[in-house]
Amino acid sequence: MSFEQLNLDPRILKALKEIGFEKPTDIQAKSIPIAMEGKDIIGESMTGSGKTAAFAIPIVQKMEAKKGVQALILAPTRELAMQISQEFEKFSKYMGLHVAIVYGGVSIVPQIDRIRHSEIVVGTPGRLVDHLTRRTLDLSGLKVMVLDETDRMLDMGFIDDIRKIFSKVPNNRQTMLFSATVPEEIRYLTQNYMKHPIKISAQKHVSRHLLKHTYYDVNQDQKPGILAHLIKIENPELAMVFCSTRHMSDILARKLYNFGIQAKAIHGGLSQPARTNVLEGFHKGRPKILIATDVAARGLDIKTVTHVFNFDIPKTVDDYTHRIGRTARFGKEGKAISLLCKHDHDSFRRIIQHIKIEKEYAKDFDPKQYQDTSEKRQQKSYEKRYDEQDHKQKRFRRMNREYYSRR
Ligand code: AMP
Repeated sequence: MSFEQLNLDPRILKALKEIGFEKPTDIQAKSIPIAMEGKDIIGESMTGSGKTAAFAIPIVQKMEAKKGVQALILAPTRELAMQISQEFEKFSKYMGLHVAIVYGGVSIVPQIDRIRHSEIVVGTPGRLVDHLTRRTLDLSGLKVMVLDETDRMLDMGFIDDIRKIFSKVPNNRQTMLFSATVPEEIRYLTQNYMKHPIKISAQKHVSRHLLKHTYYDVNQDQKPGILAHLIKIENPELAMVFCSTRHMSDILARKLYNFGIQAKAIHGGLSQPARTNVLEGFHKGRPKILIATDVAARGLDIKTVTHVFNFDIPKTVDDYTHRIGRTARFGKEGKAISLLCKHDHDSFRRIIQHIKIEKEYAKDFDPKQYQDTSEKRQQKSYEKRYDEQDHKQKRFRRMNREYYSRR
């Protein structure tokens, strides 16, 4: 199937040609015709499937310029909201439409102004509720509402905000819901807020045969060293390293730095400008290593990630699948490498039942090369201070002795 066969506005076709979209992905081919008919959709798919265009193209086609907000897209994180709004900007380049992006952690005032002039609003649930409460966002003319990465929004506790938003939108709207998994809570949303939704599941664009999964058995205290060693050997074009906590991500970035590897951490504890800065740098390969928590990395689309390292093992198969979905995309090769300690075996067993993961050995790893230099430096400065004090005490004792012997 081609985009031309989908009855799209020539201005959208022109934009698609310019950005190099030659033919629709599986989810696009399945969703776009149904979405254009105005039907509700539940899309079971994840980042990498091309799902953003699957809902954005039909939305762009339906919008009427300068007629107020007609489409609302909910996303779990600021980064994903930004990514979605950038895609909208691309598809609507020749349509005279405007996209407002709305998320917390930054001033609300410029957002209010932007919303006034936009047909499409993309945002995170918390800040959207703020705007609704202040009446700076009018959804009375809404035609389409999209919930993206719905499972993650629910994991992050946004259910009440989502309910509030649903209570402010017209009943005759179209609703599209995208989620990698469809747990019970999502069924609650689909039953209460959707009309005869059509379920669509689609292939990911992760190429299974191009993605190699391996794991290493390691001691907890050697993990940072082995990671540094593997990064040096593998020499990734871009790599994402997953940690389970913000704290660990920060510590690991420092440890890698001490081993001569530039890496930056991204997590919810950073300010919005800092997060944007880290991501923009990573897109350009400065630095090549991004350390992330699952939540911060959710939905990020970075095309040239060649390696995914699981520094901490994900708890579920779904989390594993989300993480590795960052690599081996659109025909490129990729590697997913997991570092496994004793306490990880239970979680890992569940994953390995579904995915073939080969064991590897870090043969050339020399632990001495990867002793933490910061710890070594601390030890040295402590010894130096101790020596100096010892020296002073000895001198003091000698002077004392000399003084009393002279008397
Ligand atoms: P998504 O799953 O929406 O995050 O999309 C993943 C990546 O695939 C994004 O970088 C899109 O720009 C790209 N993409 C989506 N659809 C197509 C297409 N039909 N042809 C080429 N690239 C695409």
